[in-house]
Amino acid sequence: MAETETTSPAETEALAARVAGKLRPGDVVTVAGELGSGKTTFVRGACRSLGVTSAVTSPTFTIGHRYEGDVAVSHLDLYRFANVSHAEWGDLEPYFDDAVAFVEWPEAGVGVLPPARVRVHMSHSGSDRRSIRIDCADPRV
Ligand code: ADP
Ligand code: MG
Repeated sequence: MAETETTSPAETEALAARVAGKLRPGDVVTVAGELGSGKTTFVRGACRSLGVTSAVTSPTFTIGHRYEGDVAVSHLDLYRFANVSHAEWGDLEPYFDDAVAFVEWPEAGVGVLPPARVRVHMSHSGSDRRSIRIDCADPRV
């Protein structure tokens, strides 16, 4: 487990890029934290380092995006879900297939999401400061 503080979006992206360097298809990364804490910024930095060149924005009107970078990269946002049902899981499952998958608002997916390799938790700590906790399921990251 590591706890860090960043002072700009660029710093958060750089931190995410370092984490992403250790990821491979099949890995799930949950990114939790309140609105505006920088979850999408973190995912953007990770996507860039995984070779994704298209715009990385919150998947507000769809469940998720799947990008082609150096590997396939999925980005899901479960904000609109109270609880993901097993039926809904059928729609989500393809995003996890052979991709590095980032999940914002993972709380709604408890019980159906595959186990996370990395759990990121972000919170505001004043103006442009964000405190970022990173828990890893194994020492590979
Ligand atoms: P979330 O997905 O958690 O709602 P976003 O990444 O969409 O958050 O938005 C975070 C906002 O906070 C952006 O406008 C970003 O520029 C700003 N910001 C300011 N400082 C930071 C920081 N240190 N890390 C990440 N984002 C920051
Ligand atoms: Mg977001």
